[in-house]
Amino acid sequence: MMRVGLGYDIHRLVKNRRLYLGGMVIPWNKGEMGHSDGDVLIHALIDALLGAAAMGDIGTHFPPGDPAYKNISSETLLQKTIELISARSYSIVNIDATIILEKPKLLPFVPRIKNNLSRLTKTDASLISLKCKTKEGMGNVGRGKAIEAYVIVLLQ
Ligand code: MG
Repeated sequence: MMRVGLGYDIHRLVKNRRLYLGGMVIPWNKGEMGHSDGDVLIHALIDALLGAAAMGDIGTHFPPGDPAYKNISSETLLQKTIELISARSYSIVNIDATIILEKPKLLPFVPRIKNNLSRLTKTDASLISLKCKTKEGMGNVGRGKAIEAYVIVLLQ
């Protein structure tokens, strides 16, 4: 049986934080605010995986108020999520992700982000799609105050 899952996340962008995307640090003058490293792409991916398996969401498994998860790497949370779905005998068919961010241009970083997600999810990079869009200057994302990610995954 095939199961599809959708994940979404948004984080504020603030000074004195690193911009993490898919476990990579992107050089920029702002980064995501959050309890963890704020990696909006990995958080949306985790929700998509858990959603496809009908296993709740990131907050169910890794509560933000729990000191065990304070400043934890999102890579670690993703690896734990892969273990959770693998234990239910699910495997990833493909991943399709969209990041919405006004600046900086992410295209030069896409291959490295995809390769890192490939490593973390044990999924061939050819099965991972990553697209980057802006919000055409509109809203908080358009003003550079926030970053969003949507991820859809198929499990078998
Ligand atoms: Mg988040």
